[in-house]
Amino acid sequence: MTTSGSGTATDTHCPYCALQCGMRLRPGAGAEPVEVLERPAFPVNQGALCGKGRTAAAVLRPGVRLTEPLVREDRDDRDAPLRPASWDEAFDRVAAGLTAAQRRYGNDAVGVFGGGGLTNEKAYLLGKFARVALRTPHIDYNGRFCMSSAAAAHRRAFGIDRGLPFPLEDVAGTDCVILVGANPAETMPPALRYFRELRENGGRLIVVDPRRTRTAEQADLHLQPLPGTDLALALGLLHLLIADGRADEDFIARRTTGFAQARAAAMAHWPQRVERLTGVPVAQLAAAAAMFGEAPRGMVLTARGPEQQSKGTDTVSAWINLCLAAGKAGRPGSGYGCLTGQGNGQGGREHGQKADQLPGYRSITDPAARRHVAAVWGVDPDGLPGPGRSAYELLDSLGTDGGVRALLLMGSNPAVSAPRAAHVTERIRALDFLAVGDIVLSETARLADVVLPVTQWAEETGTTTNLEGRVILRGKAVDAPEHVRSDLAVLHGLAARLGVPEGFPEDPEEVFEELRRASAGGRADYAGISYGRIRAEDGVFWPCPAPDHPGTPRLFLDRFATPDGRARFAAVTHRPAAEEPDDDYPLYLTTGRVVGQYQSGAQTRRVDELNRSAPGPFVEVHPVLARRLGVAEGELLAVTSRRGRAVAPARVTDTIRPDTVFMPFHWGGDGRANSLTNPALDPVSRMPEFKVCAVRVGPAAGE
Ligand code: SF4
Repeated sequence: MTTSGSGTATDTHCPYCALQCGMRLRPGAGAEPVEVLERPAFPVNQGALCGKGRTAAAVLRPGVRLTEPLVREDRDDRDAPLRPASWDEAFDRVAAGLTAAQRRYGNDAVGVFGGGGLTNEKAYLLGKFARVALRTPHIDYNGRFCMSSAAAAHRRAFGIDRGLPFPLEDVAGTDCVILVGANPAETMPPALRYFRELRENGGRLIVVDPRRTRTAEQADLHLQPLPGTDLALALGLLHLLIADGRADEDFIARRTTGFAQARAAAMAHWPQRVERLTGVPVAQLAAAAAMFGEAPRGMVLTARGPEQQSKGTDTVSAWINLCLAAGKAGRPGSGYGCLTGQGNGQGGREHGQKADQLPGYRSITDPAARRHVAAVWGVDPDGLPGPGRSAYELLDSLGTDGGVRALLLMGSNPAVSAPRAAHVTERIRALDFLAVGDIVLSETARLADVVLPVTQWAEETGTTTNLEGRVILRGKAVDAPEHVRSDLAVLHGLAARLGVPEGFPEDPEEVFEELRRASAGGRADYAGISYGRIRAEDGVFWPCPAPDHPGTPRLFLDRFATPDGRARFAAVTHRPAAEEPDDDYPLYLTTGRVVGQYQSGAQTRRVDELNRSAPGPFVEVHPVLARRLGVAEGELLAVTSRRGRAVAPARVTDTIRPDTVFMPFHWGGDGRANSLTNPALDPVSRMPEFKVCAVRVGPAAGE
């Protein structure tokens, strides 16, 4: 807590995206309990905030947020109204619902679904709760839908996964950046300054995106490929880099393995073939390869565009291959990185919330990892469950024979954010029992048997880890409403009712101290990080294995985190999207974000100022396509895929390809983009193919 000129203020971070902008809160004088102030001292955003951050306090209002537990009066009718209840009744109902499913169908009939917005402490304790209190393998989280392909490719190449292996400020000082399927102008506007500074310093920016986004408009070169062909594009650039003699043979020999196989795969993707596959002219491919190859230092940064594909892991590997072949990794000012999406997308995947991982980013199938974590938890390692179902597979199993029959869901809204969302909603409705912990009554919470109102952001203390691997501390600035409890207190109370009274502390710092021990020696090592250090240093980069270790802002400078210290090329080849356009569904659909909303919109759709800037869904169509369809700006369009239908007004723009339409995914109801998206999964990361599927489009009135 610090004191500002006009009252007591608390240093904290924005509740939304992975940039985790620093901000300061002081008691509010108006409708909101706190007022958001700039905090220029935090280095990442230096005081800048986007509209979401500036208005974040609106979600603290009692009329917006949940203020008391709710239970469904009629247990057999998911559409029956919810009524207020005491915490005792709510806890009893949740414990009874989970226990009944396990008695009837076995431990594996209960599942847990978490979120990438949960603090490190919550993510850690949720994983422990699933495996120790519920003894189920089935825990996963919505981060699987976010950056899991980048994580898998990162680990495959470098042996460790941290979104950015360098601070964001390094972007401004490099010579060339290829930004693939990333649109920070909409997703994290304060980060744009680093790209602007890059160009002011003489560096070049190449943007790869099927849409000419506001980010692409600032690029030196914009490559506009067909959705789902980013892998072929990367192979074509690698082909040209090698053919033009720009591969860094010395770096490849000293610091990598597997180049010969990757080279062979790339050489089969000659430029004319890549032009046919991607739609990007050979001349533009050659210009991009030369720009990147000639730059002394360079970076490739990906986001959801190449990652949310049924070949997302291989696609990211192809871009990493390009970095490695150009000698642009493992040295200052160069490297591959992923711009993570959710607020704690990085930390949320490090502490055991994933179906296949234990805290410290350890594999759940590794016997040594199981022994280490079991010792910290005080349980028998042989009693720890093995890997469970990945996020979509878990949701797809709900209410089925052999599937999950009772679900505890914290901080996620899959009724809007999951692929094939209408089907997922049906599966949720088929559950024997659903408990949801959230701050607002989301579309998913409305279907619950019990809704648990939990604390948010300004009402609690806890750590998150931003896209740079910087572990930071959110400070409590205001008390929560009387009948709201922290997620940690919820897990504490539920564990006690399930017969596990020890091991689930309510105090976040106590949980963090245990997390440090559980992570020690793991890939994401937090052992040397403490609340005291974070406060003193305004963030500490992992890995930080000891209290006297300075933390690691830049990874891989001496060696990569593989057993032999070398980065690994992956021999990947192009393959088409799981669903390509045909006579029945002749267009590509791609989905994404707008600056005024966040994720499923559960929070931001409740903020008036944001709704004025981003009031609802829309369908971007190229003027040529609009003429062919006979539709005008604002006319309602029906977009139909093999999985469902969505209706939204047309936005006619030449920033999109004529063969592709775009919808933002922040809304439920008739305009729910994820009613259309394809749950085809990447075989490695289990990421669904949100970014490309086949649709047909026509005036809604004509149907
Ligand atoms: Fe919050 Fe992200 Fe906006 Fe920063 S860029 S204010 S972290 S939503």
